[in-house]
Amino acid sequence: MSYNNENVFAKILRGELPCFKIYEDAHSLAFMDIMPQAAGHALVIPKYPAETLAELPLEFATPLLSTVQKVMAAQKQVLGATGVVLMQLNGTEAGQTVPHLHFHLIPAHLRNLKAH
Ligand code: 5GP
Repeated sequence: MSYNNENVFAKILRGELPCFKIYEDAHSLAFMDIMPQAAGHALVIPKYPAETLAELPLEFATPLLSTVQKVMAAQKQVLGATGVVLMQLNGTEAGQTVPHLHFHLIPAHLRNLKAH
């Protein structure tokens, strides 16, 4: 699959578009989703130009998952999340709208579940 360098997350990685950055290291970037599905909805992306998970070389998977773990821990410690929904869509048919691999990290709160 060919990677399109003009997607919004590629532009965020190049600093051409702003984002609310949470964490960054040599391999990955975490930032807030612009249209959150719940308070604290974050995205974690690799700096490697992969469109879907299948195109990410395995050596980049461990540092990416390490960042996912860090952000999940922060969502629990800082935001008080009691759980975190992890979502990752592959391909337009699956609902993927931005063609750069990303994990959604959506905090869940026990008090929200009890409210209904
Ligand atoms: P997808 O449907 O591809 O799994 O999710 C793409 C996500 O990227 C959506 O939740 C959407 O709100 C988010 N998004 C799209 N454009 C931008 C942007 O320019 N900045 C940020 N921070 N998030 C974006």
